[in-house]
Amino acid sequence: MPGEEPGRRTGGHDGQGVAMSIRVLGTGSADGWPNPFCDCATCTIERAAGRVRAQTAALVETFLLDCGPETPRTAERAGASLRDVRHALLTHDHPDHTAPAFLLYRSWVTDERHPLDVVGPPSVVGQARMWLAPDTRVRFHEIRPGDELDLAGGRVRALAANHTPGAVLFDVATPTSRVLYATDTGPLPRSSVEAAAGAAYDVVLLEETFGDFTGHGTAHLDLPAFEEQVRRLHAVGAVTDGTNLVAVHLSHHNPPTGELARRLALVGASVVDDGTLLRD
Ligand SMILES: [Zn+2]
Ligand SMILES: [Zn+2]
Ligand SMILES: [Zn+2]
Repeated sequence: MPGEEPGRRTGGHDGQGVAMSIRVLGTGSADGWPNPFCDCATCTIERAAGRVRAQTAALVETFLLDCGPETPRTAERAGASLRDVRHALLTHDHPDHTAPAFLLYRSWVTDERHPLDVVGPPSVVGQARMWLAPDTRVRFHEIRPGDELDLAGGRVRALAANHTPGAVLFDVATPTSRVLYATDTGPLPRSSVEAAAGAAYDVVLLEETFGDFTGHGTAHLDLPAFEEQVRRLHAVGAVTDGTNLVAVHLSHHNPPTGELARRLALVGASVVDDGTLLRD
């Protein structure tokens, strides 16, 4: 096949192990943590510890959840191949979540027998289409809050985010796990909490951008608002004692990781490094 590289089809970072795995790629806010331009206390502490948080994204079996400009490299550094990605779910058109040039880079090495679905709000799909020829076999799916899609790797539901118009959160149900990817968002819309009722997610990735800084006035969560969302999700059985609940989209407004871990543990949540495998 022209353009095919047979030796790499099952090579690289192990095609078998990828299929069932859930991995957090990035755990940082748009500017990352540390912010490279900043020498505040928490940036300095994290930097001294050698901890770098890139823009938030995750890999759930064959689903890539968000793809910012740093995401492909973050995956490479974590030893996580993107070769088996069959569905790219993009939450909204902020540049830390949607950097659709990855579609072009992928097209240079992946033949047309490897299907890919690109799923996102209309503004995201509009941007993404521009990176591929009109006759591409990549399939684009515009979704709106409340929509459901049955894809080869599982079922995807779009829940409303409290962020930009049309922004969504993703509820992904594969044959082996159910994951809620909830960034970016302020306090969750009631409709989304109701839609998540009874889900008993295996993994919830919930944003917690601002730590103890509660005067940010943005559609994001801080620590008190994060705790409140956890309480709401628990109350409806979306989060249970068996849920692996991880805070993501972390910025330098947070306390240093050690202190943040202690604070999050009080509500049954955790903080992990970029590249952490939550399930394999
Ligand atoms: Zn963001
Ligand atoms: Zn800083
Ligand atoms: Zn955003």
